[in-house]
Formats: sequence, C-alpha cells, structure tokens
Amino acid sequence: MKDLAYHALEVASLAGASYVDIRIIMDSREIISVKNGAPLVNQIEGFGFGVRVIADGSWGFAASPMLDKDNIEKTAALAVKIAKSSAKLKRFDIKLADEPIHKDKWNSAYIIDPFKVPLEKKIGLLMSIDKTLRSDNRIKIARGELSFWRENQFFVSSEGSEIEQTFIRSGGGYAATAVDDKSGEIQTRSYPGVQGDQFLHLGWEVIESYDYEGNAERVRDEALALLSAEKCPKGEMDIIISGEQLALQIHESLGHPTELDRVLGMEANYAGTSFLTTEKLDNFRYGSEIVNIVADGTQPGGIATIGYDDDGVRSGRWFLVKDGIFCGYLTNRELTHVINDNHSRGCNRADGWNSLPMIRMTNISLIPGEWDFDNLIADTDKGILLGSNKSWSIDQKRLNFQFTSEIGWLIEKGKIVKVIKNPTYQSITPKFWASCVAICNENHWTLWGVSNCGKGQPGQRAEMSHGAAPSRFRKVNVGLG
Ligand SMILES: [Zn+2]
Repeated sequence: MKDLAYHALEVASLAGASYVDIRIIMDSREIISVKNGAPLVNQIEGFGFGVRVIADGSWGFAASPMLDKDNIEKTAALAVKIAKSSAKLKRFDIKLADEPIHKDKWNSAYIIDPFKVPLEKKIGLLMSIDKTLRSDNRIKIARGELSFWRENQFFVSSEGSEIEQTFIRSGGGYAATAVDDKSGEIQTRSYPGVQGDQFLHLGWEVIESYDYEGNAERVRDEALALLSAEKCPKGEMDIIISGEQLALQIHESLGHPTELDRVLGMEANYAGTSFLTTEKLDNFRYGSEIVNIVADGTQPGGIATIGYDDDGVRSGRWFLVKDGIFCGYLTNRELTHVINDNHSRGCNRADGWNSLPMIRMTNISLIPGEWDFDNLIADTDKGILLGSNKSWSIDQKRLNFQFTSEIGWLIEKGKIVKVIKNPTYQSITPKFWASCVAICNENHWTLWGVSNCGKGQPGQRAEMSHGAAPSRFRKVNVGLG
C-alpha cells in the first residue's frame, strides 16, 4: 500500500504537479436501529483513495475505490489533467502556507472496542429502551440507534509528510413521540444529546457512561407531560440554555461564520456566508466579557479530534472569542494568508476518500464559567430553562436566528415550577452573546457531538463536538411563532 501511495506522488509529479498528496482510507461502520420494536442492522465497509494535486497553480482531484498500480497511475494522471484544465480559468495561483514535515502515527483513545461488543447486547439495549418508551400507549413512535465507526487513514505528500491515523467513534440516542388523539398534539423528547444523539471519539464506554436504559422512563414521561403542557410565554425573559442546546447555538452562530472560506464568499452552500468579515478580527465585540470560545482539534473525545487534518497540518487549540472579542478563524493552508497568518489552523477535512477537503469546524467550545447549576436556578427570579434542540433557523449571514427546544421549564422565584411546550427564543448573534451573564462551571460542562454538518457542492458531511455548560442570557425574546 505504501509503495503504491509513493508511486502516485511520482506519477503526478512527473505529469507536472508542483504539489501532490494521497489519502488512502479504510473504514467500517455498524449502525443498529430499533423503531417500534423492529431492529435493523447495517454493517458497511468502505475503501478507496483520493489524489489531490496542484498543477499550473490550480487544484485537481481524482479518486478510485480500486488500489492497484494501474488505477494509481490513471487516477494520479487524471488529477493533474483536471488541475491543468482548471488552471485555464484561474484568477490566481494556489499557494499553500508552510507546514513542517510530519512523520507520525495517531490513534484516538478508547477503552472497549465497540466492534467486539456482541451484536445481541447492542440490539438488546435498544429493545429494552423501546419497551420502556412504548409502555404507555400514547407513545406512538419510539426509535433508537447506536452507531460505531472505525477509520484508518494513510496520508503521504510530495513535501515528505507520512501520517497514519485511526479513530474510533461511538454513540447514538433515542426518542419517543407522544400523540394525544383528542387534541392532536404531538410531542417528541430525546436522549442524550443534540437532537437526541451523542457521539464521542471513544469506545463502547460512551454508551455505558450515559446510562441509556436508566433515562428511558424520564424521556417517556417528559414526552407525555408535554402533551398537556402550557405554551411558552411571550415577551422578553431571562433564559437558561442547557449545554446540548447551546452546543447547536455555538455551531450555527460561531462555528459556521468563522469558516474562512464562507467569510471570503468562496463557499455559501447550506449555511450561507458570514457576518464575521476580516476587518472585524481582534476588534469586534461578539459577546459579553465572560464569553470565551475555543477551537480545539486536540480535545480528548471530540469527534473532530484528529492528529492532523487533510492538509497534513497538526491539530491545535486557539481562541475564536476571548473575553467577548472575536479573535480567530477556522483556516486551511490555502487561505490562511488572507488574514496575514503564515500558519494554517488545521481545519481542512474531507468526508471520505472520494471528496476534496475543505474548511470544516473542529471542536468549538464555550469555556466553563463559575456558577453551580442549582445556584443559577435559585438566582433566577423569572425565566425559562431550555432543553435539547427541536428546530432552528438562521439567516444567510448567521445573524438573525430562532431556536426551539423540545422542552422548557418555567422558573419563578428561583424554582422550576412547570413544564412548558415549544419554547422558542429569537435574537441577533452579537446581541444574544452580549446578553450572556452567567455560565455554569466545569461540573456541568459536556462535550456534545454534532454528526451531520452539511457543506459544499457536491455535499459533504462532517462531524464535530461543542462543549458547553448551561448558561443564562438576559432579556431574550421568547414565545414567538
Ligand atoms: Zn453545520
């Protein structure tokens, strides 16, 4: 395999490429789902390689699922041909920021290999949850899913880097949908993470640490309670946003707008462009002074945690927002010069061997504050506590947004008094983060996985984690729609 990888570098260089890299990827996935008592198991194996080149100052990329000498030569030659054709339309030459040569092996850590856990145990867990969720006949849909993913990637570049990486990702979640036949009310409650799912770069221990079975009764009861819950009040109120809801807020209102290709208008698919234009770097007030948000490709367990990105750049940690001031972007080797930085932050990732890498979020997290959760509730005279995400929308510049949570709880005089349904909040990104007045401490902080971030044309999927603790925001518009 190694010889064939180096052969691709030779073939492309001889054909006129000034830069070449090849990624050979092998992956295994196991997805087990149960819907209303019916189990389904999917086991998928993937294999292939992609050759990326710069020739005549432009990118070319070609990929193949067949790793042999003939295909290596054809694919490498095709990548160069595509680059040379693209070069006829170029406006400027691609120039990559310098990166040290890396010869390294990197593995994500885990305790229990999830692929060695018997299938019966996985199905049994989901069936047991399903039984609990559907023990009340008002629960019309119960669905649960566990998924496990192992990926091995071998990367070599014409600059001399040779990097082998392996990660294991584990997780899943479940949801119960309750229906009131008389009123027609439909409500869904899920566990444990962002829109139900939680994933980490770890093994089977992820599943055990979240006590999936032990939370099923509560999830069922909350879905049922929502059927007869009062509506969310309307007006300006203090809100306390749970970590799993805040994770998606960070993703949409800071993650996407700090992707430098969006900022430059080079990429607008799925998530639009960005209000965080380059003149705002280091001087724009993004949030209150307690808001500190860090990007970290080295965060233990994060599903964007990797040793090196697909540019061969070593992962790092840096601030996107420090003491409330916007101060960083997500960059790759190609675009980092635009912000006068001479080193990529290592955010170039592809979603497989047959995709060209582009700037993707790494793990982006809100640094914990000082509050204990119970004290924060006790300190809130009137407000709403919001659970995990139900739906959201945000404009093309990532400014004006509206989020709805699955569940809310009304807080009065420092106490949670009742469940409310369809809690919605709306604001404008910098105004919203400027209203952040309290963040809970590290005991309440969790790293939440987002596994379905879409970007690009053709579309690519990426995964990343966002750490957050419950936080309080002052006088936010609630109860719209
Ligand atoms: Zn996204």
